[in-house]
Amino acid sequence: TIILGIETSCDETAVAVVRNGTEILSNVVASQIESHKRFGGVVPEIASRHHVEQMTVVLEEAVQASNQTWEDIDAIAVTEGPGLVGALLVGVNSAKALAFAKQKPLVGVHHIAGHIYANRLEKEFTFPLLALIVSGGHTELVLMREHGMFEVIGETRDDAAGEAYDKVARMLNLPYPGGPHIDRLAHEGAASIDFPRAWLEEGSYDFSFSGLKSAVINKIHNAKQRAETLKNEDIAASFQASVVEVLTEKTLRAAREYQVKQVIVAGGVAANKGLRKELETKFADTGIPLLVPPIKLCTDNAAMIAAAGTIAFKQGRRSGLDLNANPSLLLK
Ligand code: ATP
Ligand code: MG
Ligand code: FE
Repeated sequence: TIILGIETSCDETAVAVVRNGTEILSNVVASQIESHKRFGGVVPEIASRHHVEQMTVVLEEAVQASNQTWEDIDAIAVTEGPGLVGALLVGVNSAKALAFAKQKPLVGVHHIAGHIYANRLEKEFTFPLLALIVSGGHTELVLMREHGMFEVIGETRDDAAGEAYDKVARMLNLPYPGGPHIDRLAHEGAASIDFPRAWLEEGSYDFSFSGLKSAVINKIHNAKQRAETLKNEDIAASFQASVVEVLTEKTLRAAREYQVKQVIVAGGVAANKGLRKELETKFADTGIPLLVPPIKLCTDNAAMIAAAGTIAFKQGRRSGLDLNANPSLLLK
């Protein structure tokens, strides 16, 4: 089965061709980060306009690089949500136009299902499986008992992990997106500041990062008032220590409770070196196999959408030409 995937939920215009949901034939990503940087975040109007400008070029490049013809392609998978509505619409409408023109089945894909299935481009899944999704807009623990079935067992009650990274980075005057910068600084500093850990109620797999974010902001303000010097490296290291500890501990606990056979990590924050190292160390002792995708597959791309779309396609799921973008689509 050969699936062409399209992803435009946020600020990357991406098209990819994937065979059997496991083998990348092409994976083209046009990032808009440079255009949004000076605004310190993604500007929805600008994102949509860039997607429109980039789509045709990226699409042609992806098809050509895959060495496949349109006849070889079995279906078109597209991110239908969640994300920025104007951005999603560009992908959805391109996919619909292609499905109509080339007479191909159309499959709508949940963006987070895509992030999860990025891992299957590396290694086959074994169920039950636990996925830790940590991205710009999501922080979730998802249990999968079989392909295409997602049970959200925990999620953030306020900010997403990536969002917290980006907001703290902004406080430290680091460029957008701030996650990679905090990660780098964290390795040059010491976790000497005792920031809170949001464990929430006993047994909860939910997350919360807004308290931590406020604690960091307060710390910076107080230090300024007292004319104390705080090293950015130490703030970054201390902030990261809190995020990583909570993410790792909750993932470990859920993996044991649900007796999963595999743990996977997905989303942009999965690129975090501190998180990868801590998860690898802690899971090595459990005997539960941990799969962390290469960084290129952690951030937004269309190979992951094609990979998730392959399963949906094989399960007989189809979208009509009335498919619409759904900015608040639920994972299920
Ligand atoms: P979503 O997938 O929830 O819709 P998104 O697509 O914007 O959101 P991703 O592209 O998956 O999110 O991830 C982007 C986020 O990952 C940003 O918040 C960025 O700061 C963060 N990030 C990237 N690299 C790192 C890193 N090394 N450490 C921490 N955070 C990182
Ligand atoms: Mg992004
Ligand atoms: Fe994403």
